[in-house]
Amino acid sequence: MTGWGGTGRIYYTDLSAGTSYWTDELPIRVAAGARGVNLSTPYGRIWAAEFINDYIAGAVYNLFAADQLYPVSYAQNYHFHLFVFDNRTRAEKSKGPKISTTLNTTMVQAELANLLPFATVTVSAKFSNVTDYPQLAAVVANATTKVKDPALSIPIVDARLVWNWLSSYSENHMTQFINATHTTTTYDIPGFLFAFQGNYTFAFTFKENIALREPPGSIAGVALGDMILVDQSNAILTAGNDPSTYNQPGKGMGFTRAAIHELGHMMGLNHPFIYDQTEDFTNSVMAYYPYSNTYSQFDKDTVLRGINDELLIIAQDALAAAANILSRPALFNNGLCWCSPILVGGRAVCSAGRSERFVLLGWARVWTHRARSGCSRWSSGGILFLQKEEVNCSCRIQPLSDMQAASPLGSCPDEMVLRQRTEIRLDQTH
Ligand SMILES: [Zn+2]
Repeated sequence: MTGWGGTGRIYYTDLSAGTSYWTDELPIRVAAGARGVNLSTPYGRIWAAEFINDYIAGAVYNLFAADQLYPVSYAQNYHFHLFVFDNRTRAEKSKGPKISTTLNTTMVQAELANLLPFATVTVSAKFSNVTDYPQLAAVVANATTKVKDPALSIPIVDARLVWNWLSSYSENHMTQFINATHTTTTYDIPGFLFAFQGNYTFAFTFKENIALREPPGSIAGVALGDMILVDQSNAILTAGNDPSTYNQPGKGMGFTRAAIHELGHMMGLNHPFIYDQTEDFTNSVMAYYPYSNTYSQFDKDTVLRGINDELLIIAQDALAAAANILSRPALFNNGLCWCSPILVGGRAVCSAGRSERFVLLGWARVWTHRARSGCSRWSSGGILFLQKEEVNCSCRIQPLSDMQAASPLGSCPDEMVLRQRTEIRLDQTH
């Protein structure tokens, strides 16, 4: 092993270790020897610094400032709906595990609740025979091919057929199971999990595979934007029965870890080894090496960073929209003036002096009242990030509470009140 960490915000790399069966990283002295570099020379020290920098860059890009696979969608409530279909033969069902025991819904829910501490999380699972849904059963039967993954010598079910049938991007038959809602109040994420007969697994077949004479790679799961697909074959569900490998009769691998992993992708998490393979040793369900069922601290930070990005974008939009409405003299006379609505990383742009130490994050909706038409309504919602007023700041926005006092705005026919709901005060350090 050449690295470990992830339970906290710490990651270690052992430069003297390697190689391992998992990565082909060389110990630093072996690497230096391979290049003919003497580490005690001035050049050797620079070379070593660059060598170490490569590891640091990998850790930064994989863990500390990871990319997001999908944009993270903020919601107050996340509902994960898992549909588990049994496609095993009658004999396999009678000998193998009951389908309802192949997924630990409680564990999936606990992990996702850890990943999304700002929201309410529910996970539900429904277990059924695929034959209970004749149309789906026909699609799966059609997708069950005689093509084998040559690397593993196992036959494949073409995942693209199943996905096309289910997907909201395509035929959208997933509505037979769920009408997914995607709002900031409620966000539904469906998952379709299949227990296949024999040793069948899902695979994607791409034309490039054919052109390059590559095998269609079999997969245990995939996150596809609108859903996850996960599969385990009967052979995997009963893997413990094989005396030559696991030799734990009656046991096998179920859907739990794959579901947590793929749902992590749906929340924007990437694999932690896309820039450097060393971080595959991170204690994370998103890594392959450790067989961990939990999200790392880095995973949790990545989701929160994605949420923060999204809220800042919402704030920018809300401020830009409000600026269009508010940019009238009456409001400016009441003390409102605009700095750039572009806020980066939670810092207000007009943070010139040490005296401006606060940013107010207000959950606010705009109440518009049109006196002439008698029409009143709340805006569709948004979050305003407002800098606390400071006397000498030339580009300030009043706190929401002051805004409320600033209305109504005289003879202006379109009256506006900003009503504060809650606010969080963050110390801003300079
Ligand atoms: Zn993955």
